Amino acid sequence: MTAQAVETGDLATVIGLEVHVQLETDTKIFCDCSTDVGDDEPNTHTCPVCLGLPGALPVLNEGAVEAAVKIGKAIDATVPEETTFHRKNYYYPDLPKNFQITQYGAAICQDGELEFSVEGERRSVTINRAHLEEDPGSLQHKGGSIDTADYTLVDYNRAGTPLMEIVTEPDFRSPDEVRSFLAKLTEVLEYLGVFDATRDGSLRVDANLSIVDLSGVDADEIDASVLDEADPNRTEVKNISSHKGAEKALAYEETRQRNAIQRGRAVEQETRHWDESKGVTLSMRSKEEEKDYRYFREADLPPLRVSDWKEEIEIPELPDARRERFKAAYDLNEEAADKLTSTKEVADFFEDVAEQFDPDLAATWVADELLGELNYRDMQITDVSHRFDEIERLVELVATDEITTKNARETVLREMLDDGDAPDDIVEREGLGKTSGDEIQDAVVEAIDENPEAVSDYHGGDDGAINFLVGQVMQKTGGSADPGDVNQLLREALEA
Ligand code: ADP
Ligand code: ZN
Ligand code: MG
Repeated sequence: MTAQAVETGDLATVIGLEVHVQLETDTKIFCDCSTDVGDDEPNTHTCPVCLGLPGALPVLNEGAVEAAVKIGKAIDATVPEETTFHRKNYYYPDLPKNFQITQYGAAICQDGELEFSVEGERRSVTINRAHLEEDPGSLQHKGGSIDTADYTLVDYNRAGTPLMEIVTEPDFRSPDEVRSFLAKLTEVLEYLGVFDATRDGSLRVDANLSIVDLSGVDADEIDASVLDEADPNRTEVKNISSHKGAEKALAYEETRQRNAIQRGRAVEQETRHWDESKGVTLSMRSKEEEKDYRYFREADLPPLRVSDWKEEIEIPELPDARRERFKAAYDLNEEAADKLTSTKEVADFFEDVAEQFDPDLAATWVADELLGELNYRDMQITDVSHRFDEIERLVELVATDEITTKNARETVLREMLDDGDAPDDIVEREGLGKTSGDEIQDAVVEAIDENPEAVSDYHGGDDGAINFLVGQVMQKTGGSADPGDVNQLLREALEA
């Protein structure tokens, strides 16, 4: 029997995410081992609890719960009266207890929501739940990758690091939506101070994707009942550790599944592995089902009453609120406000500059000049945060008219970023100090004295002659005078 090809116009892409983020706490979630592991020797941040030795008892880290409640408030989730912990049972060498302590029934955050924008359009995604759990250890495959290594070592330094698993509804319709969502999510978490995106392995995404036969339903009308009805097979792609990686892995998976369907082949329900270096997803195993994990209550941790915490814990101003405030307070357009609140660090720096100088100037210099040049060099704001004083000095040089905007932009800022020099040194080295009013005035007088012909042309009604004289003055001042000012000064001198 030949396979029946399908009209791909009737198919929609459906994506849901399980995002694991590392919570910034000093110690692990169930013991007092430090989470500040850095490049320390393997297995030096361990104790009987995180090694899973018999008889060791977990003690819940209050800081992790606080961070979870902050996330709950930020995504407008329900925080239940009582939250409970469960054991998720499975065998893997990085999991010393043979179970992971996680949450199953009463997750600490339920039914939240996060808004984000894609290409200027606002979108909203429902967060089904977000729950606390412990990270397993890490495996080091020696002499190859997971399937080719000679042997594998286990490091339990990471075991017991607090994680929040954030599970979305299958609300995404394209890989680029996912990328924008992840950017927004990590931005919110950083604002909350519960997450550090620069920390290795702090974000891990499992991405679920299916292709749904719409049979007459509009793409934006896909809801739970439509998905139930269609019941598509889906794949879960694991091992994604960046926003860009998520977008790429999902784009690959989307094409792979659509091609299969188009050729009349079935899409297997399975777990796949994202191979970042090859840019492909590879089949790992058939997907486990919930019953495989034999979830049951963690008897060593009593239920935790958290309903009051939500009232008591305060969270800082979040990106959306800050963006609106920036628009109103500094009279910014949408695009500038978006850029200036893109990370907390950028927003804090902008406010600092705007307090000292004209807010318009601050916005131009932070949103356009600085972020533009950083972006061009593939640099982040965090790469220059230790040089904020120098960047403010550059803005000051512009604000006080000591150098021209053009020189500040095209020479000083670029050399600052490329060579690491201080703005005043660059100004001096390159001779960029603006020519003083007196020097310009002298040059104007000289230009008039030296060019009687142009002067009489001007008086004879040849307005073009002024351009020649402006050129002469610019030459005398080495290009550091403003041509508009020179024009004005020349006219005044010639009419006097
Ligand atoms: P499971 O019980 O298999 O873990 P869940 O309901 O917990 O399934 O959902 C796990 C993830 O799969 C969620 O992020 C959810 O959004 C996503 N998901 C569910 N259905 C689909 C689908 N049809 N296509 C893509 N992702 C889906
Ligand atoms: Zn420990
Ligand atoms: Mg699940």
